[in-house]
Parts: sequence; structure tokens; C-alpha cells
Amino acid sequence: MTDAKIGVFTSPHDPSLLQNRCFLYHVTGQGTGEWKVPLGGMQSLVNALLTRCVQHHAQLVLNATALNIEHQGDRSTVTFQTPAGQQHVTARRVLVNAGPRTFARLLGRTWQPAPEDVGSVVKINMLLRKLPELRATEVTAEDAFGGTFHLDEGYQQMQHSWQQAAAGQLPDPPPGELYCHSLTDPSILSPELQAQGFHTLTLFGLDLPWTLFETDHDARRQTILQRYLDGLTRLCTGPFEDCLARDASGRPCIEIHTPQDLQQELDLDLGNIFHNQPSWFFTDDADRAGQWGVETDLPGIFCTGSSAHRGGAVSGIPGYATARCILGHR
Ligand SMILES: Cc1cc2nc3c(=O)[nH]c(=O)nc-3n(C[C@H](O)[C@H](O)[C@H](O)COP(=O)(O)OP(=O)(O)OC[C@H]3O[C@@H](n4cnc5c(N)ncnc54)[C@H](O)[C@@H]3O)c2cc1C
Repeated sequence: MTDAKIGVFTSPHDPSLLQNRCFLYHVTGQGTGEWKVPLGGMQSLVNALLTRCVQHHAQLVLNATALNIEHQGDRSTVTFQTPAGQQHVTARRVLVNAGPRTFARLLGRTWQPAPEDVGSVVKINMLLRKLPELRATEVTAEDAFGGTFHLDEGYQQMQHSWQQAAAGQLPDPPPGELYCHSLTDPSILSPELQAQGFHTLTLFGLDLPWTLFETDHDARRQTILQRYLDGLTRLCTGPFEDCLARDASGRPCIEIHTPQDLQQELDLDLGNIFHNQPSWFFTDDADRAGQWGVETDLPGIFCTGSSAHRGGAVSGIPGYATARCILGHR
């Protein structure tokens, strides 16, 4: 159920079946649901893509913000801003990975999100100087944090937190889960930090929809952060905060992002990590039957990011579908 709720605001009996769609994305990996991480972090994946693009003579323009797309006949012109000024490129095909809000803006259209499109996640990133010592004596910290560490994520607890959030209250305690990526792949930390026993810890907080932070944002963000720290301390032999590393100014190395922060910093619409509600892998829309799910009403303009129909998140489905769609049209 936690995999069904991560990122979206839903509950086990949600008639929209948003929970089922979200869950499906978590079990498609490797055909078995196996989760993997790229050695060296996500940057190694980006670097591999870059190498492949360069091998195929792609021209890459960094720090370029697309401003608008004008569609005429069988051509589209993209205007984009670079530090050197505005530039244009005209092409038969334009592939847009940005979310639906940006997609609409680029085409001069209005964006009308559905209630299920709202993001519902708080992300907390931490650097630890040591792994916490748990009260539970039958498990080592390495084993406990080596997989997914569930915090207040029991069924009844999440029914309660969902009801609280639906009523406009901050969940108490808020459910969340943690991953210690440096245990899975130590290469994400420098050899010096590894030798000193440092670790990274990242927490996904559930049942924290965008709407909860629309008023009193900063104070509510601080309250939630403290509730998670208190939740962790409940399971540790001492205050969890003692495990946090300190930066050069002596401040604890911890950051928290609400859905509002994710929208502002990463351009994620309504803070939804999937850009909008995850879709089924099939369509029951007669107009879309026989399509790949990346086509738009404008020929040659494709929606190739997470908000594509029939696939999204990091599944790779929209990219695959775009390639099949375009190559099939040749
Ligand atoms: C903290 C977090 C954890 C996640 N964990 C998981 C997970 O475990 N499993 C999973 O499947 N998914 C996960 N996701 C979701 C997943 O990362 C996204 O669904 C996926 O990255 C979407 O890829 P994308 O290429 O469609 O869009 P994005 O990665 O959002 O890329 C869109 C790009 O477009 C750029 N852009 C926007 N507007 C413009 C413009 N006007 N001009 C130029 N560029 C523009 C943006 O800067 C961005 O780089 C997570 C997301 C977050 C934030």
C-alpha cells in the first residue's frame, strides 16, 4: 500500500483507483518489481545518455529555457532563451518532456489539473555522521536501513493520517519511509566520508498533499520536519538529531521539500513527482485507441515525459513509445 501512495494523495478504497495505478508503476521494474539503483547515482544514467547522444551527433544546448512553440502546417518552431539571447529552431517533430502546465504554457493554452493530479509527498534529505542505534536489539542498523525503512506506515496508521490530511490537518504522526542509498551504493559518498562512517538518508513522507501547505507554508513545513525527527527518535536509543552531520557553519545537514518546494525548485506541477496522476498502461478512450499515448492534437508535437498516457515516472515507457511512434511513421 505504501508503494500505492508514494507521491499521490490516495487511500486503499479510493474509487478512482489512483492507488492501483501508482502501485503498478512500482511493480513493473525488471518484469518482477525488482528495484535497482544505478551505480554512481542517477548522474551515471544521465552521463550514459549523453555519451550515446554525442555518438549520434546530437547537438546539446544547456541552460536553454523553452519559451513557446508555434505550430504551422507540418512544422513547429520552438523559441528558447539562452544566456546568449533568444533563439529559434524549426523542426518536423518536437518532443516535450516538461509537465502538463509547462506544455500548455508553451502552446499558449490553459492548464486545468484534475483533483487527483495534486502531489502528496514531502522529501527530506539528510547526511548522517553515523547510522542511528535502534532500540530494537534483534536487528543491526545496517540491516534495518539496507532496504526500505517504514515509519508509522501501518494500515490503521495510514487510514488515520489520510483522514487527518483529507480534513485539512497535518497528520500526527505522519507516515514515511526511508532509504539509505549509501548502504546500497557507497560510491555516492567520497572515500573520506565513507571511512568516517557517514551515510545519506532520504525520507519520503506520505499523506502530505499540496493543499495542506497552501496556508502557513513555512511553519507547517517546520512542524512536519519536527514530527518526522520525533518519529525517528522514538525508534532510536538517543535523539535522532545527534546522528546528523553538520556543515561548515555548524548547521545540521538536513533539508525538507514540500510539494510547493518541488514545484518551485524542479518545476513539478503541484509538486507531483509524476507530473500528474499516473495513468493505466491501456486506454479506454476510443479516440486514443491504436495510439502510443505520446501523440497530441498537434501533428509532430509529442508529450514524451512522465505525463504521457499509458506510462510515466521512471518507467522509460514514454521514451520507448515515442521512438516506436516516430519510427513507425517513417
Ligand atoms: C524526489 C523524487 C523521487 C522520485 N522517486 C521515484 C521512484 O522511486 N520511482 C519512479 O518511478 N519515479 C520516481 N520519481 C518520479 C520520476 O523521477 C519522474 O516521474 C521522472 O523523472 C519524470 O521524467 P521526465 O523526463 O518525464 O520529466 P522530468 O525529469 O521532470 O524532466 C523535465 C525536464 O524539463 C525541464 N523543463 C521544464 N520546463 C522547461 C522549459 N520551459 N524549457 C526547458 N526545459 C524545461 C525541467 O527542468 C526538467 O529537467 C521521483 C521524483 C522525485 C522528485
